[in-house]
Amino acid sequence: MMKTNFKKSVVLVLGTLLVSMAAHAGEKFKVIPRVHNGAATIEVEFPNLKDPRFAETPDFKIVNQMEDSPLEWSKLSDEDRLRAANLIYHLTYAKQYFLNVMHSEEVAKLEQITIRINFINDYNRRTHWSDENNNPQYNTSNSIPAGSGFRVKFDDKGEMIEKTPISWNREIFFRPAKPLSVKDILNKLPQDPLNPTIKTARDVIYPTQISTAIQNGFRYLSNTNGSTQIVSSTTHQVGTLAVIEGAFILMKQVNRWLLPNTYYLDAAMVPEVIYHEFSHIALSDYMTPNLGTPVIEGYADYFAAQIAGTPKLAKKLKAYSRGFERDGSKSKNYSLDLENNDQSTSGYVLSLLWGLHDQKKGLGADKTLELVWDARKNLKTYDAEIRNQLSHELRLSCQHLCAHPGNDDMTIIQYFDLRFTNRKY
Ligand SMILES: [Zn+2]
Repeated sequence: MMKTNFKKSVVLVLGTLLVSMAAHAGEKFKVIPRVHNGAATIEVEFPNLKDPRFAETPDFKIVNQMEDSPLEWSKLSDEDRLRAANLIYHLTYAKQYFLNVMHSEEVAKLEQITIRINFINDYNRRTHWSDENNNPQYNTSNSIPAGSGFRVKFDDKGEMIEKTPISWNREIFFRPAKPLSVKDILNKLPQDPLNPTIKTARDVIYPTQISTAIQNGFRYLSNTNGSTQIVSSTTHQVGTLAVIEGAFILMKQVNRWLLPNTYYLDAAMVPEVIYHEFSHIALSDYMTPNLGTPVIEGYADYFAAQIAGTPKLAKKLKAYSRGFERDGSKSKNYSLDLENNDQSTSGYVLSLLWGLHDQKKGLGADKTLELVWDARKNLKTYDAEIRNQLSHELRLSCQHLCAHPGNDDMTIIQYFDLRFTNRKY
């Protein structure tokens, strides 16, 4: 199904990149090449470092936490060296994809992107980031838009002593992994099955969505003072908390045997997570990277899958990722709550778009990719929905890009009809 000429050209372009990376003599760096081989590393060279001492190319600057200057290889721990090298390797790979395969005009004129590792500070649109004690972030990654605002400093008495205007370009934050003990979380939750939270969860969450709710839950979990607790997030609505808490309780009752002991994600180590974040940057001329809608997250997943050459994301990397997998090759049932932002990591859009790759029931991989790419221009808003807008915009794109718009439109209509009514396709 995937062996088209188009795909071959992708392989050719990316293959050339890898050869050119390896052809220059110099220092060797370990990276984690393919998710399918587990966490085994290979050695590569980076001929395009601006200065061989530092983790910086013309395209990417890898920095630690809040720093401005790039990481210095000789001063890094083995783990941070692997993170920084892995980021340069996979970000370069992702950028080449958007340049050579998608011919992205935006990526062709992209500025150098700053990449922060070990960074727990939450994004703040006025101050760039919040104080590190204010909703610290773990087990995730975030791409942020360019912005401007102020950085303020306070003295011991809490009086403001400095207010400096600042501005920043697009950046990607990679958060540290922090294993969360599922047992601990479950033990802290109320036991009473008549609890209204459980009732909400039973009404709202379908069994297949429990793991999604769990994943979403990690955006709300913090591990302060040694104890895991659910915290509110500045970017999400409070109502979500009850649902997530309810999902945990449901799992405790029904599904506990499915749970691993801990959940964690070392985002900088996982190739598809890096592709996902760079896709946000590449799409950011239309789609604001931190809007967090199911459509925008689904787009980043879809292009991550394109770059990785598989719709199975973050699998088989147990050393660095557990509980964060997505599998776009599996059909998922549609339900209205998948339109909510707290379901944006469900992988539904990835599965929906990937299913359209089917040659018989869909449009094939090449045409689907072309339509998805074209439709991004009109799916940029906070309220762009999967069922109404995404399917509609793909049909509109087909009207001017498909060879047989009439027939192909019928194929799209039939495909979406099957998917949105949860019939077998
Ligand atoms: Zn994302």
